[in-house]
Order: sequence, then C-alpha cells, then structure tokens
Amino acid sequence: MFTCLTHSPEETAALAELVGQRVHEGTVICLEGDLGAGKTLFVQSFARTLGVEGEVTSPTFNLMNIYEGICPIYHFDLYRLESEQELEEIGFYEYTDEPEGIVLIEWADKFPDSLPEDYVRICISRGEGEETLRTITFSSVGEAYQAFVKELSEIVYLGD
Ligand code: ADP
Ligand code: MG
Repeated sequence: MFTCLTHSPEETAALAELVGQRVHEGTVICLEGDLGAGKTLFVQSFARTLGVEGEVTSPTFNLMNIYEGICPIYHFDLYRLESEQELEEIGFYEYTDEPEGIVLIEWADKFPDSLPEDYVRICISRGEGEETLRTITFSSVGEAYQAFVKELSEIVYLGD
C-alpha cells in the first residue's frame, strides 16, 4: 500500500497516466471516494493513455461504458445502482470474473460482496482546506496485484 498527494487535476491525470502505462490486460481497478473526488478524471486520463480517443464520461445512468483503446476498457459506475440484481443483469460478473480487457469500477465499495477476489484499490480523498489537494491511496486486495502495486509505488516515489 502507498499513498501520494496530488495538488491539481493535472497531477492526478499524470498519476493515472503512469498507471495506464504499466497496467496489464485483465486488471480490475476499483475507485473509491466521494462525489467530486476525482475518480472519473482518473479514468479519463488512464483511458487516454491506453489509446481511447472518444469521450470518456461517467456512466452514472447506464452503469457501464465500453471504450476501445489498445484493449477494451470497461468503465462501471455503481453510484446509482440499487441492488446486486442489477449487476447480474448488466453482466457485471462476466466482466470481473475473468476480465479480458481492463475493468474500472467507480463506487465499487457500495457493493463489497460483489467484487472479485483480486483487484487494485484506489481511494481518493479530499482533505480540509486546499481545494485541489487529494490524497490517493493504492492497495491490492488479494494477491494477484501485489507486485503491480509495489511496482507503482516505486515509480511514483521516484517520480520517474
Ligand atoms: P468523481 O468521479 O470522483 O465524482 P470527477 O472526476 O468527476 O469526480 O471530478 C473531480 C473534480 O475535482 C474535477 O472537476 C476536477 O477538476 C476537480 N479537482 C480538483 N483538484 C483535483 C485533483 N487534485 N485531482 C482530481 N480532481 C481534482
Ligand atoms: Mg465519477
């Protein structure tokens, strides 16, 4: 687990770019944080890095967007989801059980029992005071992404 601070949207975007450059196909990333924390902004920069050219917006109403980059990117937002039944209906588990592309899930923490065993967890929080300051914590849940999160921690700290 490691934490970094960003002081502007641009810094968060740059961090997402670093993650996008290292990520492997088959990765599930869960994003937690209040409204306006920066989850969608993170996904936007991440998706651009993976070659997505079209619009990247929060799938708040349709629950999932699919983007074509160098691999498919499945972008979920569970904010408005009311029951786990709906996850079943949109085929959520087919995407997360054996992900073929890359899966990003905003508000994943709303349905903790529905998440896969292994995922990268990114928590974004705002502190008091400075309007554009964010604390971003990366951790791996399960074993599959431990090495990946460690690799990221080294890059981020070196500022490479
Ligand atoms: P979420 O998806 O978490 O609800 P968004 O990504 O849609 O949040 O919005 C984040 C908002 O916060 C954007 O308007 C962005 O410009 C602003 N912002 C300010 N500072 C930061 C920062 N350090 N990192 C990310 N976003 C920031
Ligand atoms: Mg969002």
